[in-house]
This record gives sequence, C-alpha cells and structure tokens, in this order.
Amino acid sequence: MKPEETEYYSPVPPVVTPGNACGEAPSDAIILFDGKDLHNWVSANDTTKPAEWTVHDGVMTVKPGTGNIQTRQRFMDYQLHLEWREPVESANHVGQDRGNSGLFLASVGPGDDGYELQILDSYHNKTYVNGQCGSIYKQYPPLVNACRPPGEWQTYDVIWIAPRFNADGSLKSPARVTAFQNGILIQNDVVLKGRTLYIGHPYYSPHGPSPIKLQDHHHLVSFRNIWVRPLHLSE
Ligand code: MG
Repeated sequence: MKPEETEYYSPVPPVVTPGNACGEAPSDAIILFDGKDLHNWVSANDTTKPAEWTVHDGVMTVKPGTGNIQTRQRFMDYQLHLEWREPVESANHVGQDRGNSGLFLASVGPGDDGYELQILDSYHNKTYVNGQCGSIYKQYPPLVNACRPPGEWQTYDVIWIAPRFNADGSLKSPARVTAFQNGILIQNDVVLKGRTLYIGHPYYSPHGPSPIKLQDHHHLVSFRNIWVRPLHLSE
C-alpha cells in the first residue's frame, strides 16, 4: 500500500481566523455581548421588551427582579464562550443563595427554562453537588470544582448538541454537553435526561432551535465577552 491511498483532499475545512488570544472571538463567531449594549438580548418574560440588565464599563450585570434575559437569535448546535464574575457576598449567603445565576443552553419558554449549566459561587460554598457551579442542574455534578474566588473573572466554553425530535414529538436523540470552566474539563459529553428542573424528574418535550438564556436569581452576577459559533455537524 502507498501512503497516498489513505490521504484525501476534499472537502477542504473552511478557514477561521482565531482571536488574538485564547477566549477572544474568532472570525466566524456571532458576538452576543461585546460590552457595549444588550441589543442582542430581550426580556425572557416578554420577548417584545428589551433586556433590562445593567451595562457599565463593558460589563453587564443582573438587575435583580427584572427577570431572565435571552438572545434574540435561536440556535441548534453551537460552541459558546462566556465570561462571568461572582459578586463578593456576605457570609450569610450560603448554598444556592450565593452568586446564583445560570446559563440555559436552550431556552424552551418563559416558564420553562430548558437546560441549565449552573452558575454559582461554589468557592468554599457547600450545596448539593448536582447543583454546584458547573453542574448540569440536578443531573450531572461537574467532574471537578474549578471555581475561582468571587470577584475574579471566570470562563465557560461549552459545546451544546441540541436534542432532536421525531415528527410525532418523540425523542430522536438527546441533548449532549461538553463544558470547560476556566479551561478545565467539567462536563465530558454528558447525555441530558431532559430539561433541568428544580422540582421533579427531567423530561423532554419537542422544540426546535432555541434562544440562549441567562438567569436572574437575584444575585449581582456580571458577564462579559459572550460569543457563539453555530456548528454544522453531520448527523
Ligand atoms: Mg442557577
């Protein structure tokens, strides 16, 4: 056998220009938040209304009581980069009541948030492990606790494979998630059991391309540098 017999030349992968540093948006990314304004986001309670979180010094911060916010655009499979900062809270904020927010990888509706990758201050803060920072909420604890102390910027890099449904609404293939926190693998291609619920067992019901949502859990969690690359994977 010749070496050429196991080499091929097409299709040629598209060229993507990387950002200047790791974590900066590459040339084919959709910028969801660049530090200027929230024009790519709407209120999740009423998607005809703008997102009401505060933007200051290139950073957006939860405005407690204004509700979750979600992207105008809808996505299927994607790679997402997000940076967040936990507030420094007093010692009486413990468990789930400490720097709680969340990244909903696909938002299914206003009263049904979809699939949450938990954002929480889990730096020396005990809670149920499948609800700590980096968990797929109440389904999978993170592989490790990769949290920085509150007040420091942290990163999520996530691969989301959306669930597929048959024409009769039954599940064709479940959602899958791979995630890195601060460059550390925390979820390795986990297969989701359904939507992440606070009460009850996860379940699926059919949906198509969905917005990405961030949670207002009444804590002053801040965000910056959020971008997404829709993925077109062969099925
Ligand atoms: Mg949360």
